Amino acid sequence: MTPPDQSLDLLVIATHPDDAELSVGGTIVKSVREGLKVGVLDLTDGEPTPHGSPEIRARETAAATAALGIGWRGNLGLPNRRVIDDLEARRSLAGAIRLIRPQIILAPYWDDAHPDHVAASRLADAARFWAKLSRTDLPGEPFHPPRIDYYWSIHLRIHPKPSYVVDISDAIEQKLDAVRCYESQVVTGRSQDFPTLIDDVRDRARYWGWTIHRAYGEPFACREEVGVESVRSIL
Ligand SMILES: [Zn+2]
Repeated sequence: MTPPDQSLDLLVIATHPDDAELSVGGTIVKSVREGLKVGVLDLTDGEPTPHGSPEIRARETAAATAALGIGWRGNLGLPNRRVIDDLEARRSLAGAIRLIRPQIILAPYWDDAHPDHVAASRLADAARFWAKLSRTDLPGEPFHPPRIDYYWSIHLRIHPKPSYVVDISDAIEQKLDAVRCYESQVVTGRSQDFPTLIDDVRDRARYWGWTIHRAYGEPFACREEVGVESVRSIL
């Protein structure tokens, strides 16, 4: 993994390429527009899947990265379908965090149907802690990302209560454009009169937008409290 040229404001840790786009694509787009330095670290290549290959997935990921407008994306090279929070994976991700030095980490929500996502959530927590350790042989300098928040995974068919919802009303189309780049994953074999995967993503974003009186939204959970500058921030 080649680290970014400068520290990031926002780092999305994604288990598989397309998870970032599906779950936080709108938040990424808005953050880039606001001038934040945003990057995505995929933990695996996401393959095998029924219609993909490592080469196809890499091409699709490059296209989606361009659609999001982010300046940096890396891949940690962990084995797809076999992600576990073991010491070697923790060491690898902690080293990456020390080199990337993000102010906020967005990680998969801790409860999910996909075992890789559950493991990735635990791994992100553990690596965030390890990243601050001194007197280790990890690369870079000790660093503790001030925040880690969790995004909703596509595989979780329940609605946990979020801690906050980001308004992505003016970023929904760019988010969907990024998701469409994963042609091999958008193919689901559904009948023509059934809503598509893109419909699913848009409708869920619409639901979360409805909860905050906006058009579209993306939900996040956090274990640590969210501070605001003033009441104006939540108007
Ligand atoms: Zn995934």
